[in-house]
Amino acid sequence: MKKKKGMILSLTVASSILLAAGCSSSTGGSSDAGKEKEGLPAVGATIYKFDDNFMSYVRRAMEDTAKGKVNLMLNDSQNDQAKQIEQIDTLIAKGAKSLAINLVDPKAAQTVVDKAKTKNIPVIFFNKEPDESVLKGYDKAYYVGTTSSESGVIQGELIAKAWEANKDKWDKNGDGKIQYVLLKGEPGHPDAEARTKFAVDTIKEKGIQVEELALDTAMWDATKATEKMDAWISKYNDTIEFVIANNDGMALGAIASLEKAGYFSGDKFMPVVGVDAIPEALEMIEKDKMVGTVLNDAKNQGKATIELATNAANGKDVLEGTEWKLDDKKAVRVPYVEITKENIQVGKDAYK
Ligand code: BGC
Ligand code: CA
Repeated sequence: MKKKKGMILSLTVASSILLAAGCSSSTGGSSDAGKEKEGLPAVGATIYKFDDNFMSYVRRAMEDTAKGKVNLMLNDSQNDQAKQIEQIDTLIAKGAKSLAINLVDPKAAQTVVDKAKTKNIPVIFFNKEPDESVLKGYDKAYYVGTTSSESGVIQGELIAKAWEANKDKWDKNGDGKIQYVLLKGEPGHPDAEARTKFAVDTIKEKGIQVEELALDTAMWDATKATEKMDAWISKYNDTIEFVIANNDGMALGAIASLEKAGYFSGDKFMPVVGVDAIPEALEMIEKDKMVGTVLNDAKNQGKATIELATNAANGKDVLEGTEWKLDDKKAVRVPYVEITKENIQVGKDAYK
């Protein structure tokens, strides 16, 4: 009986989240939810924007993990840092016992900590890593994410291996170098910076020479990536030998552009790699339109974020009863995994 009532209530919460998200353009998408429901402690959360392919999977994992444990007040910050700060003020005013914050701008972390600190509220940052000094400066601040450089290293290794196995066909001008274009995520985002650097450095460390034809940001976004790729194809045409994307969303955008230009039919081919292993990218790998990707484990990052935030909201040690560990920077780091056709099931399992 009691359980049933809980379920109906959480459905009401879920539909109010949907409603709030639907009319969020003016309000910033607060999911209200209020103070303590059913005796559950309130966790105040923000996602930098709901309209981000990868973050939509993190969000789903957060909602699933929160069910029945905490009253999750989740906000869409709509890529607006000022709006996010207002949302955090509101969450604190509404009685949030802990905060789970996906920053819009990683540089805003100190402002968030300053607000939380005055009320002694723990903060779990996730996905966009704040500077080490910010986490050091508040004993109740933590981070859940990855080791950004690891995704670049794994992507670089994947590129090097695939190139070695296929260079007879892929080295179109036969100069032994990879002529590549690189679609970068948001400048200043630790993942975008590290992936860009470490992917290329790793290829070179493997003894393969590279030549950058073009590098530009497409802000993690598929549509922007299609536009960039359209321009690059018309400028560099067949001299492009590899497309490196900081995430799968942009890889998919590039593939859409390449398809328009006649690639992936007949023997016209272009190797494309990404990061995340979202289901749409796994489909492309299966269709041989993507060489591979790097699993960025959305489900476990969302789960860990809420598990730490739940413990924090209950005044417990953040790790209590969880499988996670903190490193010396007070960060939980979920590992990246190389994904190709051979181990595609690993990607599928992580996103199902
Ligand atoms: C993901 C991107 C995503 C970004 C958002 C990265 O870790 O790989 O797909 O857009 O986080 O902050
Ligand atoms: Ca070449």
